[in-house]
Amino acid sequence: MKVFKFGGASIRDAAAIKHVANIVSSFGRPLVVVVSAMGKTTNALEQVVEAACNGNDAGTRLQEILDSHEAVLAELDPKLLTMYRPATEQDVQRSQRYLERAYNLPFDLVYDQVVSLGELLSTTLVSLYLNNRGIGNTWVDIRDYIRTDNTYRDGRVDWTFTEGKVAEKLAPMLADGGLVVTQGFLGSTNEGQTTTLGREGSDYTASILAYCLGAECVMVWKDVPGVLNADPRYFERATKIDHLSYHDAIEMTYYGAKVIHPKTIQPLQRKKIPLHVRSFIKPEGSGTVISDLTEPGFVPPMIVVKPNQVMYTLSTPDFSFIAEDHLSYIYEQFARSRVKMNLVQHSAISLRVCFDQDERKQGPLYDALEARFEVKEDKPLKLLTLRYYNEDLLAQMKKGSQVLLEERSRNTAQLLLWEKEDGDGLKE
Ligand code: ADP
Ligand code: ASP
Ligand code: MG
Repeated sequence: MKVFKFGGASIRDAAAIKHVANIVSSFGRPLVVVVSAMGKTTNALEQVVEAACNGNDAGTRLQEILDSHEAVLAELDPKLLTMYRPATEQDVQRSQRYLERAYNLPFDLVYDQVVSLGELLSTTLVSLYLNNRGIGNTWVDIRDYIRTDNTYRDGRVDWTFTEGKVAEKLAPMLADGGLVVTQGFLGSTNEGQTTTLGREGSDYTASILAYCLGAECVMVWKDVPGVLNADPRYFERATKIDHLSYHDAIEMTYYGAKVIHPKTIQPLQRKKIPLHVRSFIKPEGSGTVISDLTEPGFVPPMIVVKPNQVMYTLSTPDFSFIAEDHLSYIYEQFARSRVKMNLVQHSAISLRVCFDQDERKQGPLYDALEARFEVKEDKPLKLLTLRYYNEDLLAQMKKGSQVLLEERSRNTAQLLLWEKEDGDGLKE
């Protein structure tokens, strides 16, 4: 059994969905197809939540999103609308109710109840279209299977519950060669509230299901030929890596390579399930296979760029050294604000921490730190991670830039640089 995952770009319009149907029909069964929200729907729904939580009108924008889905379905086959509307009605109304009360509810809770609509609409649409094309499938509400805690926007999976439920209810649907279409990115709490697994989390959903089902492989279908040694948006000469070890993939994604969600690899590694990264544009291409390579062979230097970074430099107002009690307070504040430290550098009198810019989380973090330390903020920065670096590459990356922080280990070097004002500044 295989688990496929199609991201937003692969189902952005009617033509793209037809193409996905061709890919799905060219493979055998049993098959699980995990689908993200269409195109940029998640970003659009985030704006809807933001507006509602600030007390502004969100209804018009939500209606535009709903209309754009119906327009795509009408282009595929207008007859499907009569089945699509009742199938999605309840979820739409539920989101609307949360938007109406948003102003008085916690932002993260509302976010998950509304943003999840993207995947619920897209999977309903894709499932109906596939059935219509004779590609028989069962639409599954993943919230009945993937159980998380109530950390909204970053749900932590309850593996015991999820494994049990998948074995009990999902595996039998696939036993006779079935095709299941379901949502990426979503889960639900014990109380039945919808949760999300963090932005870009659909890759992770595919991995969770593959782990629980003991799948033969996962294939994520992307707009790139596979995993490249750098993001092609920044580096025109990026080249495809044919085989990558789980370890290298974990390192790359942890440091921000956007091609795969960082939580995806570990469950697969645990059961030695290979992850294929393939191109939906050229499905016949070999892509990249991420697996348990004992002899990885040659891997070119890999470059990961993480934009939108902030650096705080913390020092004590009474000129004392930064010591253990300070450190425990600092780490606690980061954990409490759910801000991940991407790079930390400690000296006698200061601590420098770099993390992703996120206005919503940063305010409370800044206040908590400012209560005890002098806080200097530098932004906008970008964090470059070079795996299997060499001196020439390091020199090339530093050229013309002011380096704020540099860290090196045997295989990995990291540079924190100012963002260039004229875009990414890295295109070769
Ligand atoms: P999905 O549609 O599945 O969500 P993403 O857009 O998240 O897919 O991931 C694909 C994108 O990841 C590519 O368009 C590319 O710009 C970016 N990317 C970043 N780093 C890499 C890399 N090392 N190799 C390939 N693509 C990368
Ligand atoms: N739709 C979600 C997002 O855009 C999840 C995903 O695409 O993986 O973040
Ligand atoms: Mg993605």
